[in-house]
Amino acid sequence: MKITTDGECRHVAIFGATGSIGRQSLDVADNLGARVDVLTAGSRDVEFEAICRRYKPRIAAMSNTDAASRLKTALADTDIKVYGGENGVESAAYEADADNAVIAISGMAASAPMMAAAKSCRRICMANKEAIVAAGQLLLAAIRDGGAELIPVDSEHSAIFQSLQAGRKEDVAKLILTASGGPFFGKKRAELEKITPADALAHPTWLMGPKITIDCAMMMNKGFEVIEAMHLFSMALDDIEVIVHRESVIHSMVEYRDGAVIAQLGAPDMRTAIQYAMTYPTRADGLAQRLDWRMAKSLTFYPPDTESFPLLALAYDAARRGGTYPAVMSAADEVAVGKFLRGELDFCDIFDVVIETTQKLGRSGDVTLDEIVNADREARVVAGELSDRIFAKRRGAV
Ligand code: NAD
Ligand code: MG
Repeated sequence: MKITTDGECRHVAIFGATGSIGRQSLDVADNLGARVDVLTAGSRDVEFEAICRRYKPRIAAMSNTDAASRLKTALADTDIKVYGGENGVESAAYEADADNAVIAISGMAASAPMMAAAKSCRRICMANKEAIVAAGQLLLAAIRDGGAELIPVDSEHSAIFQSLQAGRKEDVAKLILTASGGPFFGKKRAELEKITPADALAHPTWLMGPKITIDCAMMMNKGFEVIEAMHLFSMALDDIEVIVHRESVIHSMVEYRDGAVIAQLGAPDMRTAIQYAMTYPTRADGLAQRLDWRMAKSLTFYPPDTESFPLLALAYDAARRGGTYPAVMSAADEVAVGKFLRGELDFCDIFDVVIETTQKLGRSGDVTLDEIVNADREARVVAGELSDRIFAKRRGAV
């Protein structure tokens, strides 16, 4: 990561503006008094139109072409240029020319716009994790080649990035990622069988989009974050540890070679991490509530239970194997989580679909971005078929 001295944020581009991180990024832009120049979204045009009318960006793009043409008609009375399709989102990124590009698109779809934004924007504020998990090394190299600096937004990685300001990279011994443990902490596999989407969507400390909330409940999210940390901070996998910390007050820590541990603490509110990514190396007044230390009576720590939550162990294994393994795991997870949310899979079936698909399709060795994209596509088909078979069998059994 490059270090700049100017933390001023005048122009912002937000990719994925209708999502959880996207909306919070708009709050942060308001808070900083930054001009929102470019906005993109997937398919919710009515919601997106309201955002566009409020922020009056120079360019608005939607990956869904039908939604984009409806938006174009709806915004005909404005000066906003409207682009449609995945290419339209990419063009918006090429033309963004912003101080900060927030990459808050979910999934692999973020990779093309993030590479394009790296060519036109000074800084990439990276919230997306799936693309980094699948193709971290290649994408980070493309961002560097594009000339942008990258600052992480994921709260754990922001915490590590902040804690790294306390020392030299060569003196870092270990990264310690904290995990809330999700709503099913302490439960054994048998108790997880009957979990419903509503149970899994009730995260104890963080309010997030549905897919990442389910990933948290399974500790899959923490597995993704281990891989994300490995790429973002060029750390060996063995030097990245996960610890369950129920209160989500410590957002992650860095242990230095002398044994000193530096942590970042605060209320669980993504707007702190988003804003830090935009203002680094300076800080501005924040939006999150302050912690009341008299209320934070105790901070607890537990080792993760990889037996009941096998996807964390799978993520370490996939990262060690490299190649297409992480991409296949991430794609299979996206499919299986989608099925679970639609009531087409049971909670523990997600584990089986992700593990089986990863073991079946993963391939080690050097891979290109095209090969990763193909592996992602293939994994979606295989995970989908596997899920359908499990669902059909279950219905037959009823
Ligand atoms: P979300 O589902 O709420 O929002 C996703 C956004 O991406 C939406 O604006 C959607 O329209 C857009 N989008 C989806 N598919 C697209 C496509 N093909 N092309 C263009 N745009 C598309 O998701 P979220 O919770 O805001 O998370 C966004 C990313 O940030 C994810 O990668 C997630 O893992 C990561 N993240 C989220 C949080 C959080 O608190 N929500 C925390 C850390 C990291
Ligand atoms: Mg996180």
